[in-house]
Amino acid sequence: MSSGNPKPVANSGRLLVTVLGSGTSMGVPTLACQCDVCHSSDLHDKRTRPSVLLSYNGRNVVIDTTPDFREQALRARITHLDAILYTHAHADHILGLDDIRPFNAKQKSPIPVYASQETLSILRRTFAYVFEPQSAESSIPQVKLHTLTGEFELFGARVIPVPAQHGPLTVHGFRIGSVAYLTDFSSIPDSSKVLLCNLDHLILDALRYTPHPMHSTVDQSLALVRELAPRRAWFTHICHDLGHEGTNAKLPANVRLAFDGLEFGVSL
Ligand SMILES: [Zn+2]
Ligand SMILES: [Zn+2]
Ligand SMILES: [Zn+2]
Repeated sequence: MSSGNPKPVANSGRLLVTVLGSGTSMGVPTLACQCDVCHSSDLHDKRTRPSVLLSYNGRNVVIDTTPDFREQALRARITHLDAILYTHAHADHILGLDDIRPFNAKQKSPIPVYASQETLSILRRTFAYVFEPQSAESSIPQVKLHTLTGEFELFGARVIPVPAQHGPLTVHGFRIGSVAYLTDFSSIPDSSKVLLCNLDHLILDALRYTPHPMHSTVDQSLALVRELAPRRAWFTHICHDLGHEGTNAKLPANVRLAFDGLEFGVSL
């Protein structure tokens, strides 16, 4: 783990995906838990909160800013941050926003944020000190808010928001080129499935085996992988029910648990 050298930049036309965090909202190990996975010596079982970094055309884009964002950015050697996409406004996906301040200071500019209207309104409420500052004496994150209204161009790539249901909430996954990131969902409407065909890599929620009202299970996500047929699938938002090695041994060859620090390249 070094923050000394900048992260290598992906070649033009290539997108480098880094899984910054693969864990569920409480992280793994989970505080005060004595289970085998929380006490595992396998580093793949150390899961910070869920996020990915997309590096392309010399730009770094993160999906979500988790409570672990600072540690994740250090580990991934992120030396500049060009945009943030938000899937939804649950605490495990937004609470690291304050830690973008060093990037603002270095880049001397606000960072563009893309999110649904509903997510933006929760961001404004949760981070009232950012959007309704009473005092300019301490530094605050500088962002430029953009409401998701459909596909958009970002640094020369097409970003396709993919609506999904997370229990009663509508959340967004994102597709760029031949990769899609789809965390925190319980079901995908047919109108979104058509946005997910011909993928090289699909990163998707698979919390555990036991059913959950807000999250897809391993079996539900395996069924979705069979239906959408990406070349490779990676499960994320993983809780401590799933040990890395033992779970992987039971999965089909093209499906694996994601892990913090996983990197792969795709064409844009
Ligand atoms: Zn979550
Ligand atoms: Zn545990
Ligand atoms: Zn959530």
